[in-house]
Amino acid sequence: MTLRIAEIFGPTIQGEGALIGEPTVFVRAGGCDYRCAWCDSMHAVDSAFRRDWTRMSAGAVWEKVQDLAGGLPLTVSLSGGNPAIQDFGPLIALGRAAGYRFACETQGSIARPWFAELDTLVLSPKPPSSGETVDWDAFAACREAGRRALRTVMKIVIFDRTDYEWAKRAHARHPDLPLYLQPGNPDVDLDTPVDPQALADRLGWLTQAAMDDRWFAPRILPQLHVLIWGNKRGV
Ligand code: SF4
Repeated sequence: MTLRIAEIFGPTIQGEGALIGEPTVFVRAGGCDYRCAWCDSMHAVDSAFRRDWTRMSAGAVWEKVQDLAGGLPLTVSLSGGNPAIQDFGPLIALGRAAGYRFACETQGSIARPWFAELDTLVLSPKPPSSGETVDWDAFAACREAGRRALRTVMKIVIFDRTDYEWAKRAHARHPDLPLYLQPGNPDVDLDTPVDPQALADRLGWLTQAAMDDRWFAPRILPQLHVLIWGNKRGV
């Protein structure tokens, strides 16, 4: 059995959410069941990029991760695309036996038994601006599958007021999940330089909205990697 891999890169820092700032090697899976309007990883989603993806065994991915990490255990983040389309159980088993930690970020549309072997399961339901519709039963199944993971958190990207209000309702469905909000980056084109002030303004707006509402549940964070490297890939 092989995995469809769009890219493996690092070590670098995790740029967002619960593990922000943590040294990480990223394994980006190819393929996604969603087509979010503002997806910043279309090279791992759109089948037009399929020829750039590599079929690798779990052992080959593991060798690459070890090589990048210099054999020193760190966090491996499974991202995508939607990594839940594929079976990352064998890779996680190899890594955990060597002391590596595993995180997975998925929208919560497909539950997998290997979620239980994760250190951190990041469920990132997509708000209305994505153009997608969340299946909350599937989301609950993902939570259940990850029940034995060390921790499960929810992360939501916010582009506008509608997304913000939606995030409140999403949180109300799962109030026990630690919640992370981040402003969306509308400039995902590789050739378009990001505007740091515009990103800061979005973060300020989101922060102020939550404070005005006395909504203290979420942690509100920027996308650190976008502030540092813009839309550059593989960093
Ligand atoms: Fe892109 Fe994530 Fe949406 Fe898939 S779920 S299309 S990877 S933003």
